[in-house]
Amino acid sequence: MNSHNEKPKVRFLVGFMTVLDLCRGGIHLLHRVQMGRNASSLLDRARSAEAGGNLLRAEESLSLYLGLKREDSSAWTWYARLTDERTKEKRGRERVFLVNEEALRKNPDDRKLERRCAELAIELERHNISYQGLAMPCCMVATPDRIQLGSMAERGAPAIWNGPDCQAFRDQLSSDHPPEVCRSCSIYSGTF
Ligand code: SF4
Repeated sequence: MNSHNEKPKVRFLVGFMTVLDLCRGGIHLLHRVQMGRNASSLLDRARSAEAGGNLLRAEESLSLYLGLKREDSSAWTWYARLTDERTKEKRGRERVFLVNEEALRKNPDDRKLERRCAELAIELERHNISYQGLAMPCCMVATPDRIQLGSMAERGAPAIWNGPDCQAFRDQLSSDHPPEVCRSCSIYSGTF
């Protein structure tokens, strides 16, 4: 094999790969800039649609926005409120609950959202079991990362109800030292 012929080929290949990498980086950057622009224009569209009373369009724009910026907690609060206001028919209320639940997950300290989730859970007569099958003590808890009493899917309701976690929860609730989750609860404080 002739090494004089090979060298230019290798140089060409290295140069080609470098250009390719630069192009990839440029496209990625452009894509991010474009996504940022799209996201902010979707927020603008949602704002003006809501101001004009077009809640459906506002909700759609926010839904698209959250597809791009899933971690924007304040947009989730807004989306939850809009969805709630716009969806009055019974068959859409389950979705309203799920959106509010997701908004609460993104804003775990938001008491207003927490209360709204509880109200929706009561409205829908939901049992307090998470989608993973975990039992929660009540509808005010909303998500099992706050407290859960075991897997209803694996152990069944009687075992959970009579199990040590649930018993300890009941004992604490009837004592002067309620469970942590109850201390900030508006039902516990009588302000619900
Ligand atoms: S006091 Fe505790 S158990 Fe009762 S509703 Fe509130 S969080 Fe749930």
